[in-house]
Amino acid sequence: MIIVTLNEDNFAYDIHSLVKAFYPEQEVKVFVKGQKDLESDFGLPAFFVRFETAKICCGLYKTCAPTGGENEDFVRESVLSAPDDRVAVKNELKRLLYDMLSGVTGKKLPWGTLTGIRPTKIAVQLLEQGKSEAEVRSYMTGTYLASAEKTALSIDIAKREMEILSPIHYEKGYSLYIGIPFCPTTCLYCSFTSFPICVWKKRVGEYLDAVEKEIDFVKEACKDKILDSVYIGGGTPTTLEPDQLERLLSKLKESFDWTNVQEFTVEAGRADSITREKLRVLQKHGVTRISVNPQTMNQKTLKLIGRQHTVEQVEEAFAMAREEGFDNINMDLILGLPGETKEDVAYTIQRVKALNPDSLTVHSLAIKRASKLSQWIIENGISTLNNTDETMEIAADGAYALGMEPYYLYRQKNMSGNFENVGYAKPGKAGIYNILIMEEKESIMALGAGTISKAVFGSGRIERCDNVKDVALYIEKIDEMIDRKRKLLGLEK
Ligand code: SF4
Repeated sequence: MIIVTLNEDNFAYDIHSLVKAFYPEQEVKVFVKGQKDLESDFGLPAFFVRFETAKICCGLYKTCAPTGGENEDFVRESVLSAPDDRVAVKNELKRLLYDMLSGVTGKKLPWGTLTGIRPTKIAVQLLEQGKSEAEVRSYMTGTYLASAEKTALSIDIAKREMEILSPIHYEKGYSLYIGIPFCPTTCLYCSFTSFPICVWKKRVGEYLDAVEKEIDFVKEACKDKILDSVYIGGGTPTTLEPDQLERLLSKLKESFDWTNVQEFTVEAGRADSITREKLRVLQKHGVTRISVNPQTMNQKTLKLIGRQHTVEQVEEAFAMAREEGFDNINMDLILGLPGETKEDVAYTIQRVKALNPDSLTVHSLAIKRASKLSQWIIENGISTLNNTDETMEIAADGAYALGMEPYYLYRQKNMSGNFENVGYAKPGKAGIYNILIMEEKESIMALGAGTISKAVFGSGRIERCDNVKDVALYIEKIDEMIDRKRKLLGLEK
């Protein structure tokens, strides 16, 4: 465990996030000195942050017990020019801490002091304020110590995002998300709301009854708004049988005005759930974009991560989707999967390139504490699963070779190698909903178990409300879920 002691309760969350970015595999505890037993053997390194009048100081303790004194080689101090400006103090503190941690570990973080999940949001905001690219570059490298490469990527993506989102109605519009929380099996790394379909098969009808009740509510509540995009995700929506898909899609089509809908995505996802009949139902109802997600094209890894389908099934599902007329197919990949080398990644990219998808979403594996993967790592004694610059580059090169450009980016906590997830797309094939969910500029009404709705108000204020994750509870408490949405939208009876 890594500890950081503070002399006062200030910026603990920011300090924790930055230390964790340097030590992703370690547990990090940040606490005010005197609140815990400092004589305990915490192990090294142990750090401190001290706030003084118009000054901040941070460093490394000499011994594992913080009473052992400070290691002078790693003490950093800064006099604050604007001690009352909380944002300026936070940025200065993070730069100081970064410098010290970088000295101790010998590491540099590609995103510098930026630990949030939406680094491109900063570039978008600055460009929208009329700043030039050079000014954005200088702000991101100077304020956050982000690398030149990541800064350039942020600006590149921000410009593309702004262009793609230009037809969106923001204040007057909204998007719809429907979660189908069932999957053929549970992947080792899964941290989503997902339950094996075999367990819930008999209650899918009741689940759809509940979703339809939510659809009826949103139809009425948002009747004066413009529907911009619709996304059916999960889980795996194609675990639904063709008649169930038909029922859901018909209900959606008859309930809303589709005139302005610019994208209708169904995340087909797992190859072992895709059939020609299901694809025909999607096509019949005007789905514009689907995902066929291999994650990796290495059979040994697919088996290891609990995806009980073959590489050939992915290729067959993809070919079938093309035959059925889908001209916007995304593929999701994960880098940093257990046991995968850069050669494995290169092999995946080579097979994906042969399929020629329209977009690629490249994830860097994030190890969530609640996932089976986290347990698996402990049981198998694996301390690090690392994504590298090289594998990120192999994937990016593959995307560029397919004529794609990066169009959205987000980060998660505990990501392998502290990298990011990047969406690449051919011109005109970007996933609009993916950007909307990241940029938080438009309200999203989310239906189904474990989903989170978001209301974006004119002032930029954002409020959220969630649906329970448990499927049985969701069915049982559907009226309460609707009441939560009613409250979110300020429509209480
Ligand atoms: S397909 Fe996705 S949602 Fe389903 S178990 Fe795997 S990671 Fe989870």
